[in-house]
Amino acid sequence: MKILTLHCDYIKFKALKKAVKNIDDTEAIKEAEVKEPLVVLTAVEKGDTESTIQDLIQSIEKTSKDVNTRTIVLYPYAHLSSNLASPSQALEFLQKAESLLKKEKFNVTRAPFGYYKAFELKVKGHPLSELSKEFKADSSSQETQGNVVVEEKYDPSQLLREISKTKLDTSKLKDNDHRILGQKLDLFSFNEVSPGMVFWHDNGFYIHTKLKEFVTFLLNKYDYKIINTPQILDAKLFKISGHWDHYRKNMFLTKYENRDFGVKPMNCPGAMLIYKTRSRSHKDLPIRFAEFGEDHRQELSGVLAGLFRVIRFTQDDAHIFCTKEQIGDEIAHMLEMIKTVYKDTFGFNYSFELSTRPEKFMGEKKDWDSAEKVLEDVLKKSKAKFKINKGDGAFYGPKIDIHIKDSLGREWQCATIQLDMQMPKRFELSYIGADGKEHTPFVIHRTILGSLERFIGVLLEHLNGVLPLWLSPRQIKVISFTDRNQKACENFVAELKKEIPGIRVKEDYESETVQAKIRNAELMKTNYVVVIGDKEESSKTISVRPHGEKPKFNVNVSNFIEDLKKELSEPYKN
Ligand SMILES: [Zn+2]
Repeated sequence: MKILTLHCDYIKFKALKKAVKNIDDTEAIKEAEVKEPLVVLTAVEKGDTESTIQDLIQSIEKTSKDVNTRTIVLYPYAHLSSNLASPSQALEFLQKAESLLKKEKFNVTRAPFGYYKAFELKVKGHPLSELSKEFKADSSSQETQGNVVVEEKYDPSQLLREISKTKLDTSKLKDNDHRILGQKLDLFSFNEVSPGMVFWHDNGFYIHTKLKEFVTFLLNKYDYKIINTPQILDAKLFKISGHWDHYRKNMFLTKYENRDFGVKPMNCPGAMLIYKTRSRSHKDLPIRFAEFGEDHRQELSGVLAGLFRVIRFTQDDAHIFCTKEQIGDEIAHMLEMIKTVYKDTFGFNYSFELSTRPEKFMGEKKDWDSAEKVLEDVLKKSKAKFKINKGDGAFYGPKIDIHIKDSLGREWQCATIQLDMQMPKRFELSYIGADGKEHTPFVIHRTILGSLERFIGVLLEHLNGVLPLWLSPRQIKVISFTDRNQKACENFVAELKKEIPGIRVKEDYESETVQAKIRNAELMKTNYVVVIGDKEESSKTISVRPHGEKPKFNVNVSNFIEDLKKELSEPYKN
């Protein structure tokens, strides 16, 4: 179906003579003058279906709202298409459209089909007064909903100007705000076309990638299996998991072949399905599925705040399927991981909160009591500081949250451990126990870093942008003292790259002063600045300036490279 909608001051039309034999459109109005109408010139085409009419109605509803009129003139207009439907079908569709519009309380005038007509109209001049659209039914199936192909008029360069307006307003931000650091250090950006979703630049994505690498190292150490599940899943799945009832408002919904789909806000349902792909024995448990899940959750645009509050984020998520007896050991290993990451690697102070049964809960009281007891015992045994948040657990089970304190004294909730006694039942998960009978496993949902985006934001502000060497996108900058020393610099870089493949090194042989180059490297939070001049060349050494420190002269090249290797492997020792 092709239509052309015209928002007019008026239209006058008059049927003159029949143009199609065997068709008598007796119900239509043969002559009229209508004021302030939305005129819909319509050509019904071969292959149009019921869903095409729905698309037409939806489109009329939208346009009439946009131009603020409830008066519609439905006007058959064959000249829009060279692929017209049969006259009888076209008439039937127009009549249906008329009655549907009337049901929606539109004031409808339908001009007659199958007549030569004279007409006169005056189109208003505003941008929405003329719109042409095409609705196509899916050719693969007559029953399925049509894909709406909208042929709108638009000006790409105007649109480009609109989306290019996105600019960070730094007037209210502190200097070490991660949004300012992100821009200054060329780490990431945001654009209005994708609210709350990060555009990671090369330097920023390096941090993201290195964090995942580090987490992967720990996952292997603790015998996790790393999985990956789809982004878009049938709404049925979220009804099973319970997200539909508790979380739908925050989900992005979409349609495919007339089925309702949701973009996953969490990774649990996918993990449940992988568990269910085969029968499991108690000997297989615990099964630890980890996933760097890309999740989308709708947030009001007003609350979005750089990396701290985003719509799309990566979680270092995991789901552990285990028996009741294994819960204690599983939680204990998670507390160990948390210590390794937060205390040993990043030097954060942290504390735990144990949240217990809320007023509205699923399951049996006695199961809750014993689950809470297990979590409390593990926390006590780990000698960790914790407080109890009575009634603050999730509806499906108690949980442990960790709170970290950054250098500015702010508290952040990052890692979370949630014991789930409900989802395994809803998904009818089972394993064969030692007794040969079927049992339902427990599921523990847990993240260590939480949202990688938020963690990177916290880390950037905590360290004022100066990242540890292994995470830093700007590790080494090499500067020649004079042009004479460039060759020696190039030889040094070649040796460095050979010894440490993948090292991030920038060579600077520009004609600026050495002081200016060093200052620039400091501003860009480069970890080490290496300078080679005549003295260094003749003694076969280098001078090295660690970020924010005084330079060290006469440094032996192989010692420096060995030290770098040690520093890069630092987090992997824990
Ligand atoms: Zn989960």
